[in-house]
Amino acid sequence: MTRSDSTASSTLDRYGVVGHPIAHSLSPLIHGAFAEATRQRMTYDRYDVTPENFERDVSAFFESGGRGLNVTVPHKERAAAWVDELTPRARHAGAVNTLIKLEDGRIRGDNTDGAGLMSDLSRLGVAVTGRRLLILGAGGATRGILGPLQECSPAEIVVANRTAERARALAGGQGCGYDQLGPFLSRGGFDLVIHATPLGLSGGLPEVDSRIIGTRTFAYDLGYGKPDTPFIRWAREYGAAGVAQGLGMLVEQAAESFRIWRGIAPDTREVHRKIAV
Ligand code: NAP
Repeated sequence: MTRSDSTASSTLDRYGVVGHPIAHSLSPLIHGAFAEATRQRMTYDRYDVTPENFERDVSAFFESGGRGLNVTVPHKERAAAWVDELTPRARHAGAVNTLIKLEDGRIRGDNTDGAGLMSDLSRLGVAVTGRRLLILGAGGATRGILGPLQECSPAEIVVANRTAERARALAGGQGCGYDQLGPFLSRGGFDLVIHATPLGLSGGLPEVDSRIIGTRTFAYDLGYGKPDTPFIRWAREYGAAGVAQGLGMLVEQAAESFRIWRGIAPDTREVHRKIAV
């Protein structure tokens, strides 16, 4: 497959990220900073791979000596179906964001999104244990974060989605509540509201009643944008106690992938400072 930039050298261990589109990805910057700080001899490049070429191009990357890939939109579920084995958390999520080439040549799929969110919430001092949580959206990202959030024993998790059936299938099966995402969603009293739809990418936000945000609510957007996402602006306007966008999660999920590949947990503080908006 074709690199969309040109930092690779055949003498270094090769890693990268596959997605479509991919030009906007900050992952090369993040992994480049981790590699420099930990003195790892590796490259990390972006690969624009269309859905019809996913299996062919990713196989070619590993057959030519590549060591690991991150997987992003729209390939995470496809990657879960393609790998030779899944970690328990990737199987639970049904989605893979990290591919690892094993000693015997087989490919393992992992999912570091949930760990990334949990590390970022901890970094921000946002508690989950005993709290009431609302997640807007029931796509791949929600599948990745639901298990790790549940492990922290929140008082309640409600998943609200435009297609209520999808929320029911995901949340109901895991002992969480579910609801229809729309203007009639007006439940209140949530400590943490997580926005997990891609609407911010096109400048939008889901239609919900402002009563889901209260004065003690922390609003977290998995998406990110400069200087703020529409959801973050909206939550601020309605008096959220705190807000954060998903850049922090992006750094932390990358750190977890890096740790899996290289056996070293990078210090993320410098990278958070570097890419802060
Ligand atoms: P996805 O699988 O495509 O999920 C789409 C979800 O958004 C579905 O629940 C869908 O509802 C809902 N949706 C789509 N269009 C909508 C609309 N017009 N109105 C209401 N709901 C709508 O996407 P994903 O992989 O879960 O990613 C979600 C977001 O999280 C993206 O912005 C992604 O970039 C971000 N993300 C960030 C990180 C990070 O590290 N910060 C990691 C992973 C993902 P239906 O079921 O009704 O279609």
